[in-house]
This record gives sequence, C-alpha cells and structure tokens, in this order.
Amino acid sequence: MNPYLRLILWACAFALVPASAAAQRPANELGQIMILEYHKIDSPEGRWTRTPENFRRDLDRLWEKGYRLVALNDLLDGRLDVPAGTTPVVLTFDDSSPGQFRYLEKNGTLEIDPACAVGILEAFAQEHPGFGLKATFYVLPAADPPNRLFNQPGHEGRKLQYLVSRGFEIGNHTLWHANLARYPEETVRRQLASAQDWVRRYVPDYRLRTLALPMGAYPREIGWAVRGTINGSSYQHDAILQVAGGPAPSPFAKRFDPLRLPRIQALEPDLSRWLDYFDRHLDQRFVSDGDPLTVTVPKGMKGAVRDPLPQGLRLVERD
Ligand SMILES: [Zn+2]
Repeated sequence: MNPYLRLILWACAFALVPASAAAQRPANELGQIMILEYHKIDSPEGRWTRTPENFRRDLDRLWEKGYRLVALNDLLDGRLDVPAGTTPVVLTFDDSSPGQFRYLEKNGTLEIDPACAVGILEAFAQEHPGFGLKATFYVLPAADPPNRLFNQPGHEGRKLQYLVSRGFEIGNHTLWHANLARYPEETVRRQLASAQDWVRRYVPDYRLRTLALPMGAYPREIGWAVRGTINGSSYQHDAILQVAGGPAPSPFAKRFDPLRLPRIQALEPDLSRWLDYFDRHLDQRFVSDGDPLTVTVPKGMKGAVRDPLPQGLRLVERD
C-alpha cells in the first residue's frame, strides 16, 4: 500500500476512536469501580487539597474517558444505571471542610459558591447532561472549625437538607473524626450514634447508610461499627469505607465486601495512575451493558459472580 495512503487511513482510524470509544468497550460488569476520595477543595494544591481548577479537570477527564457518576448507595444495591460502554465512578468527600460546600451572600440572598465542590459539580452536570450529579459527603457534626459541617454556622441545616434534596448522600465519619481503633466499645458506639442523631436533627428520618473510617482505623471489633443502639439512639451501616486500597471490586463480584471498601485518594499521582491503568487494562474496568436489570459478564467468568445477585437482576454471559 502507498505509505501516504496508509498514514491517512491510520490517522482517520485514530480520529474515530474517541467518538466510538463507548461502543468499542464490551460490557464487563465484573470489572472494578473507582471510589474517589476528596478532602479539601481549596488552594493551593497539597497532600489533602485539590484546587477547584484541578477538581473541574478531574471531572473533565472522567467524562472524556467514559466515566459516569453513580451514588454509592445505588452501587451497594446493585442499581447501576449508566449507558452501555460507560463506567460508573463514585465521588466521596471527607471531613466537611468549607471548600466542599460554601454559600456566598449576594444582595441578601444565598448563592452556592461556584468554586466550591457542590458548585463545580452542579455546573459540570448542567454542561454535560448524562454525567450525573452524585457524591457522598462524610460530615463531622461536632468537629472544631473549620471542619464542623462546612464551617458556616447557621447554614448547617440548610446545607444538609440541600444535599439530600439534590440526591447527594450524607455519610457517617464519626462526631469529630475519632480514631475508632483507640476507644472502648461504648465510645465507638456513642460516636457513631451521635453523628446519626445530629444529621437527623436537620434531616428527619435520614439514615447514614455508609461509614468512612477516620484515618481508615477499624474499631477493635468490626461489629461495633456496623450497627448498634446506645442511650436510645441507633445506627446501621451497610458499608464501611477505607482511606486507600485502590479500586473496589464490582458489587456483582463474589469478592465484593461492603464492610471493607477500598478507595482511591483523588490527588494527581493516584488519580492519573488509575485512569492510565484502566486505559491500558480495559478488561479490569467495569463497563456497563446499559441495562440496569442485567449483569453482563465475559464468558467463563460466571464462577466469579456473587450468588445470589441483588433481587431482580439477571446474569448474562457474552462472548
Ligand atoms: Zn476524615
């Protein structure tokens, strides 16, 4: 073949890849899912801080690479409703720092700061229909400033109510970031039950379904963190999140363990590394079949599927 023609054909094929990338990714609902962990959204960039600009760029990269936001609680329930060829991703925010959710007062009315995480997420979702507007906020109701419920006293209830009304989730992160490995059973239970009580004071009936362990530290007995009642207050967690560990197994995989869910810290080196990893190892990445009622897995992988699957879901094997 004429080398110039070959070059042109090659260039054309390459140019087509992004547009049809989703169609070229065969469904694999046993692949792994990233649960990203953010702390501060602020300047400058640091060990626990992502700048607003970099956070927006993270969303851009996720969108371009075919990722779509899902709620953690939906992942736990196996209700993953994203288009065929795309990959669910979960966002989590720890420690309720001010840059995650800030109101600005303008002419007597409150506006969400466009440079805080909630503001950036809402704008991005509007500009990219189909990306989704989901995240879980692991808040600290009784921490010292600036980590007490986003650090705008007087707006705490309004913020929690707003998050829930928009479909965001609130999670348990203890009352004030207690290292649960250090305390006796009673203190552990009081920390978890009181955090739940605090949130209910603002959002009645809301259940914190997931717990993110401060510093990744499990209590001496894991059961203390799962459910309990103390002084008439109850809590019940369907999942426990760690602070590191890489991508999470598919919720349809046998090895999915909701009480030990790993996360990826969303900072430049880690996030870039995992995005590259899944670009190079497509077979490791969860790719949706587009139908929330079927679980499609590559032929020969049936043995790795959880049995039984969440109610109402049907297993499909593909070639
Ligand atoms: Zn934390």
